[in-house]
Amino acid sequence: MEWYVNKGSKACFLCERTFTEEEVYLSALYDESNTFIRKDFCVECWDKKDDGDIFSYWKTKIPKKLETVQRYANIDVFYDLFNKLENENDISRVNFRYVLSLYLMRKKILKLKTSHKSNGNEYLVLHNVKEAKDTEVLKPQLSKEEVLSVTDEIGKLVNCAPQVSAGNA
Ligand SMILES: [Zn+2]
Repeated sequence: MEWYVNKGSKACFLCERTFTEEEVYLSALYDESNTFIRKDFCVECWDKKDDGDIFSYWKTKIPKKLETVQRYANIDVFYDLFNKLENENDISRVNFRYVLSLYLMRKKILKLKTSHKSNGNEYLVLHNVKEAKDTEVLKPQLSKEEVLSVTDEIGKLVNCAPQVSAGNA
């Protein structure tokens, strides 16, 4: 599968109204036939949307003019995606989850405990500080460039790139 990447539409998927300055809207990531498709909704239309196949969702606030940095609970968005990708076997999603784990380690939400090999694959054993439990992440064979490329894909999907250091990949 491929990541289907569409930029934030800046308008509601249902009523097609363009979001205004400082408006809070909701984005849903639909899992349609193994492809992630992002749709944005205004608050009024959120209850009217199709609830089937939603993989994850999050809120975004349109920044004020001249405000360059957009920050709205992005850690929670990435954390939610990380958890929901746990049992996915598709290689794109395995790569996605690994890159998210690098970001969450940087944010000290996950801590590396150890790693082990099984069936030729390397697994990282991470302690989830937030929920006081351990979780395993398959470490794919990715070059630094590939890690950056996956990071870029996540950023386009979520509209805010996770700051990942490729150095510790
Ligand atoms: Zn709407």
